[in-house]
Amino acid sequence: MSLPIVTLNTEEKWDCHQCGVCCRGSLVPLSKQDADRLRSQSWEKQPGYENIQIMVPHRGAESKHRLAHRPDGSCVFLKDDGLCLIHSKLGLEAKPTICQTFPMQLVPQDKQAVLTYRRACPSAAADKGIGVKERVPGIEQLVKSDRLTAEPIVPPLLKTGEKRKWKTIRCVLESVGSLLRDERFPPVRRIVHALQFAKNIDAAKSRRMSESDIVELATALVELAPHQSKPFFDDRKTPKGISKAMFRLMAVSCARLHPYCRHQSNWATRMDLAKTSWKCFRGKGQTPAFGDGFPTSTFETLEQPIGIKPPEVYLPLTRMIETTSATYLYALADRNGWTVTDSIRGLALLFPVGMWMLRWQASSHEPTVEDMLNIVVALDRSQGYKPLCGRQQRLKLSMLGFNGELERLVVSYVS
Ligand code: SF4
Repeated sequence: MSLPIVTLNTEEKWDCHQCGVCCRGSLVPLSKQDADRLRSQSWEKQPGYENIQIMVPHRGAESKHRLAHRPDGSCVFLKDDGLCLIHSKLGLEAKPTICQTFPMQLVPQDKQAVLTYRRACPSAAADKGIGVKERVPGIEQLVKSDRLTAEPIVPPLLKTGEKRKWKTIRCVLESVGSLLRDERFPPVRRIVHALQFAKNIDAAKSRRMSESDIVELATALVELAPHQSKPFFDDRKTPKGISKAMFRLMAVSCARLHPYCRHQSNWATRMDLAKTSWKCFRGKGQTPAFGDGFPTSTFETLEQPIGIKPPEVYLPLTRMIETTSATYLYALADRNGWTVTDSIRGLALLFPVGMWMLRWQASSHEPTVEDMLNIVVALDRSQGYKPLCGRQQRLKLSMLGFNGELERLVVSYVS
């Protein structure tokens, strides 16, 4: 039985402006239906596709395949005019389901599935186009025809080894959302409040607590978080060198998903990326050459405060945090095995990473809304990107979160 599809109260907007960003550098996993449909389209008989692989192995996909890329990282079906060959020749419905629906995403819970727009599309990140409510009938059709699923899912663990009912998890996620969307505080404070909330949940001896006790605890922790966060803003203690090095490593993994970083899929590129990661880990001297979006700068410059910028520059980033927390997307999608508290830390990290990328990208000019939109594309892509959703990332975040370094990184890179 499929869940009813709902949308958020806050308006999300999108329409395709054919920029082609989603066809370059994105991994498109294929369902079994998608793979069968592509095989039945006999692309090997089309001129130019005789010896071209259109699908390649991919572990996370239902069919164990994803769409192949060209050496420059673009989709194998992307034409020179920026349009999709499958769409032009056979129509929208002939495309893989993700290509047909992107950037729309269903986030199923226990009693409803929330339809949202992924901000990995610059038009969605800018809220440009048609309200998401108007897309519901089309998505319902796709669910009816089994191209999309809207089945209930099990809730994530609250913290390591602690299973809770959906009702309790929902209450905890709502509490985090209320902290992240509390307009009495600037965005940087809200992020630190959410981190304090996660830390307190982890520290609570909650195994023997009833479900209603957890709900009460979450409510009390929402009140406590702003008070507990104050010392981080009063002291503004600099994070340790090793924490900054780990942070830069995580940030550069995210920066490689920037739409202007069109990495080719070959060994030379992998070697380059390994060298870039090492340079960022060291964090000394000049920043490495890194795609068209990041000019040459110095690591010292990236440590300087960014200063006060017009609020519209930050809006795409704060909107992303708002919508991903309201839909629970950050805790439910693509984070296999992560607990709720891990996911809060993962979401919180996006904010300083975004600001670090903005310092680098805008090191030769004043930051613009356009800069931030491209950064939001990279941040949203990182939410489904294996190296940033895996066990190692989870461990790094726990280490940083345990001794307050994550909070210090947020305070230091966001100012
Ligand atoms: S990224 Fe968005 S606007 Fe650009 S082509 Fe894809 S769906 Fe259209």
